[in-house]
Amino acid sequence: MSGHAIVVGGGIGGLAAALALHRIGWRATVLERASALGEIGAGMSQAPNAMRALDELGVGEQARAKGVPSYSAGNLRLPDGRYLQRARPGDVTPLLAFHRADLHGVLLEAVPAGWVRTGAEVTGLRRDEHGVTVTWDGGAASADLVIGADGIHSTVRRVWWPDASLPRFLGRTAWLGVTDTSAIPGGSEGSPGTITTPPDGLAGSVTMGPGGYFLIHPISRCRTYWAFVTTADRPGLRYEQEKGEVARRLATWHHPIPDLIEATPDEAVIHIDIRDLDPLPTYVRDRVALLGDAAHAMSPDRGQGAGQSIEDAVVLAAVLNTEPGIEAALARYDAERRPRTQATARGARADGRRTTSAAAYRTLVTMIRLIPAPLWRKGIAAEGNATWRWRPPRLPEPTPRS
Ligand SMILES: Cc1cc2nc3c(=O)[nH]c(=O)nc-3n(C[C@H](O)[C@H](O)[C@H](O)COP(=O)(O)OP(=O)(O)OC[C@H]3O[C@@H](n4cnc5c(N)ncnc54)[C@H](O)[C@@H]3O)c2cc1C
Repeated sequence: MSGHAIVVGGGIGGLAAALALHRIGWRATVLERASALGEIGAGMSQAPNAMRALDELGVGEQARAKGVPSYSAGNLRLPDGRYLQRARPGDVTPLLAFHRADLHGVLLEAVPAGWVRTGAEVTGLRRDEHGVTVTWDGGAASADLVIGADGIHSTVRRVWWPDASLPRFLGRTAWLGVTDTSAIPGGSEGSPGTITTPPDGLAGSVTMGPGGYFLIHPISRCRTYWAFVTTADRPGLRYEQEKGEVARRLATWHHPIPDLIEATPDEAVIHIDIRDLDPLPTYVRDRVALLGDAAHAMSPDRGQGAGQSIEDAVVLAAVLNTEPGIEAALARYDAERRPRTQATARGARADGRRTTSAAAYRTLVTMIRLIPAPLWRKGIAAEGNATWRWRPPRLPEPTPRS
């Protein structure tokens, strides 16, 4: 079966979907509301499950060349710098950290030329006799299938799933930044495609304080992504000096946290509220499928949101390639993806509650400390947990670029 799909949204999920469709011989039109393509924001990590999905899309090697191994899952620290768990020199980590723009760029580079249309904000959808017609300011187009990959505040979901609830504020907020670390001791450790040694300092860590945690990922030589996730009473709480606020809260935390914040330009400090989506009863309706955050926006605490969107893309293409019709394929997509993504979102929400709860802090720290180091290391190895063990269905070899 082949056909034409309209993909709404040109983020990581939308581009992965377009690329996956290309692999099975479909055509796709990606409609992106931004006037220029690219990812704003800071960094992210990708676990083995997402890397295998990227391999299936034919861009695993390109992605690995941009990603930097991060020991964030191996180095758990307290604000005074002591380690609860510590990676050893020579340990291999399966986590790769990226600047968002770099991972997005790898996908964009692989999508056939002319498939992405920018400045096209989709406002409506309607069923027609051939498929679905999508409208945007100044245009309309029809396709056999529409994929809503338009993020947590998805228009496709609002229009086609009017009964779905709005994203929910989780009582948490985060400051993020990307810092040039050349002036910080140990700051030039991270380098794409290499294993950094020793696994310490800026090679990736999570520092757990009462009521919040600080994450460090190296994303290239002399560039580090950091994030501080903590509780907030209400959404939309903003500060005149965002950098000053986060620096004040973390002034006594261990090196290099205060230095990292200090070295970040004021305007590069991003402050966001954390929301997720209550589970939808289905990701498919008629000829419309939701993918990525539009289907299952999750809190960032398991570092899985974008990875799950890449998995979605591979599975959707695989079922379109093997099932006899679009309806049957979408039913299988929903059956395969909903349980896994909703379980991951549930887990992320629970992790987030645990790691930012001041009341549960002492218990959490004691529990982590009690886990024997070999057991901890086993849990964060490539095959160490069910989420990371996932394997993608096979897609056909790439067809020539069109
Ligand atoms: C603090 C934080 C840290 C995170 N860390 C990680 C991590 O380490 N690893 C990980 O895998 N994930 C992480 N995530 C999650 C990840 O960012 C998201 O899951 C991922 O970006 C979702 O991709 P997407 O393509 O589904 O949606 P988006 O990235 O939101 O892309 C949606 C696109 O659709 C476009 N769009 C929206 N509406 C319309 C419209 N009406 N018409 C046309 N275009 C439209 C938007 O402009 C955008 O380009 C993190 C998230 C946060 C908040």
